[in-house]
Amino acid sequence: MRLNKSVSILGAFALAACATSSIQENTGLLPALRAAGLCETDNAAISIEHATANVSDCRVVSDTSLELMIRPENTPINDSPWYGFRVDPKIPGILDITLSYEGGTHRYHPKVSYDGRSWDWLAQTQIDVDEDNGQTASIRLNLGQRPFFVSAQEIFTSEKHDRWARKLAERSDTTLSEIGRSHDGHPLLMLEVETEPDTEKPYVMWVGRQHPPEVTGALFLISFTETILGDSGLSQKFLNRFNLLIVPNMNPDGVTAGFWRHNKGGIDLNRDWGPFTQPETQAVRSALERFETGEDRIALFLDFHSTKRNLLYTQTDEEPASPPMFARDWAEAVDERLDDEVYSFTREPRPMSARAISKNYMYKNYGIAAITFEVGDATDRDAVREGAIVFAEEMMKIMIRAEESR
Ligand SMILES: [Zn+2]
Repeated sequence: MRLNKSVSILGAFALAACATSSIQENTGLLPALRAAGLCETDNAAISIEHATANVSDCRVVSDTSLELMIRPENTPINDSPWYGFRVDPKIPGILDITLSYEGGTHRYHPKVSYDGRSWDWLAQTQIDVDEDNGQTASIRLNLGQRPFFVSAQEIFTSEKHDRWARKLAERSDTTLSEIGRSHDGHPLLMLEVETEPDTEKPYVMWVGRQHPPEVTGALFLISFTETILGDSGLSQKFLNRFNLLIVPNMNPDGVTAGFWRHNKGGIDLNRDWGPFTQPETQAVRSALERFETGEDRIALFLDFHSTKRNLLYTQTDEEPASPPMFARDWAEAVDERLDDEVYSFTREPRPMSARAISKNYMYKNYGIAAITFEVGDATDRDAVREGAIVFAEEMMKIMIRAEESR
């Protein structure tokens, strides 16, 4: 990442010899910064030391205002400008920041957190997005005593993904394996759940976080998974019938770097299912080998993402898939139960195309229902959890029925 340090007054920035600048999950306190900030005004300093932080440049405009340049890691790229930075106040007051997007337009409403765990949306009165072209967003921050984070979406690091996976792997029926390493050497982790290893069962598989900013998809995946691994009778019945393969975070480097879309190889991973040119997609392909040899059978595939609203990209009803009409039945069953006020969504069938996305690859190779599951960027987070529970329960019911009638 290219940083123009010339704009910052490096020497003046308070440096403290603290061991880490990562978020301290335990104490909820921000540790002191370990390195110099990106830039500073008279009343605050901006830094991008923490995982997921990303700002390309900083320009000090006045004693209390500055401009942050938000640039993509690559071009061409989707319009999903991620940003993240930390503010260390020096004196209480107001800090005005202009977010200037290059190669993109404002998409993510800023979230603010003092501890990296609980997040508040910046008040509407504190943000002004350029109406004409969306290329700038002016935000006004209140400076108190404590440092805080400003981020496009909640900070959800690769380390947090890994901790979650390790925690699940404490279950006696779950194993965690490293199926490869990312460009930067981060382990690519896969969970396998099999309640009876000696019994042959088909697999349901899902993956997530191919695209770094898609935090709501990650939150959905977590609640979805935890519902299926819960202690309900439905879960037990489902896991008596099916094994699971879960790759929660396919793009750990992009997540850490605060990328808009790509991996460290400069590739959109969800355009690489087929070519498999990247270590991250190669790792997943190696996990699929068991299905190619016929050793195991895969019954359903889901790929969790985020976009501007809640929707499912599925096969069309004319495309034969197994289980038959799964996508239609799933969407209908969930729609029956979920209040539109809470979680409204659409099902958008898209016929197979030449695009090297996971949905096409999995449908083409295995003839199964393969769904790109998109969660809205701004969907209420409680609604994400509620939606995930209902989608998980209805998926289990349909899959059990389908397997019973095979
Ligand atoms: Zn995506």
